[in-house]
Amino acid sequence: MLPPMETKTIIEIRDLSTGYSTKKEEKIIGAHLNGALHEGDFVCLLGPNGAGKSTLLKTLAGLQPAIHGDVIIQNILLANYKPKELSKVVSVVLTDNTKLSGMTVYDVVAMGRSPYTGFWGQLKDSDHAIIEKCMQWVGVSELKDRQMGNLSDGERQKVMIAKSIAQETPVILLDEPTAFLDYPSKVSVMLMLHRLAKSKNKTILLSTHDIENALQISDEIWLLDEEKGLISGIPEDLCKEGCIEDFFVTEGMYFDPEQCSFHLQYKTAREVIMVGKEDSTEYQLARRALIRNGIKPIKRYEDSKLKGTLKSVVIWVPGDGTYRMLDNDVEILNVTRIEHILNITTATITKNHIQAVRDAANMTAFE
Ligand code: ADP
Ligand code: MG
Repeated sequence: MLPPMETKTIIEIRDLSTGYSTKKEEKIIGAHLNGALHEGDFVCLLGPNGAGKSTLLKTLAGLQPAIHGDVIIQNILLANYKPKELSKVVSVVLTDNTKLSGMTVYDVVAMGRSPYTGFWGQLKDSDHAIIEKCMQWVGVSELKDRQMGNLSDGERQKVMIAKSIAQETPVILLDEPTAFLDYPSKVSVMLMLHRLAKSKNKTILLSTHDIENALQISDEIWLLDEEKGLISGIPEDLCKEGCIEDFFVTEGMYFDPEQCSFHLQYKTAREVIMVGKEDSTEYQLARRALIRNGIKPIKRYEDSKLKGTLKSVVIWVPGDGTYRMLDNDVEILNVTRIEHILNITTATITKNHIQAVRDAANMTAFE
């Protein structure tokens, strides 16, 4: 049995089927989805293009009717919320904000206050104070008079986040907030949203393709699978259970569950003996450079699995910043750059490898 959850459930989905229906047909995108989001949770929604991430987010935000099943937000059925009441509970940042390009940053953030303003949409002093504070919180105060259309993607995304914070909802849903951002901006937006969830106890669900960041930062991952529906769990459990690997690994890559990271798979056709300080960064980097160039470092000649591996040549990484090459225990090279040891190794073992292949095929060399 699971230990009792201490955190409050904010959103629950029960046997939910999302999709689009017209008079003629019903197009189901995600079928029989079940899951729950808790107070203060930062959750990433992952899945390939077309899996139905945007559709699910829109359904949770009440922008797209469910085909079947229930969405329950703070113990009330989503269908029973009046639009204004829902806008005090859920804010949503979608991918398309081109319609806002003529507006200033301040006015966009101010839109977040609309559930609280009266019929005429008049902002009070307290609203202005909140808008200023939200812009400050995400770091866009200096942009407040700029037009949305003239901002960078990262800046625009931050403004949209400021708007959703100004809406003061316990739940924030975001559709690919890190798409089109450079790597540092992706990380900074992710960290900012994580900080928001933790410091203000908000429940945040965002879709993303930045799997490795998501695995590092999320409290929970939601995987949207065409066949299995919604798979959820903490990142480490999903890695342990092989879900991440099953989901994202394609030919030419592999997943390292210990590090929760993806790597390219290289085919190695040659070997070289490499000894030294194995736990040093310089050893690991040299190893990586060799593998990337199709050379597998082995520790002893006895480990050799290929024909033509040189017995006499050894790369030695003493751990003092240098790379040495020994031939029959005589030092023939002492360099500090990996590139140099790589070039020499490639040249040395390739020549030997070609000879071994020729010997095996009983061919004679032309030169
Ligand atoms: P994701 O965000 O995971 O890439 P989407 O939710 O955008 O996936 O789309 C899921 C599926 O729903 C796609 O096959 C898409 O073509 C379809 N779809 C999206 N919007 C509509 C719509 N308004 N009407 C009909 N089908 C749609
Ligand atoms: Mg989408």
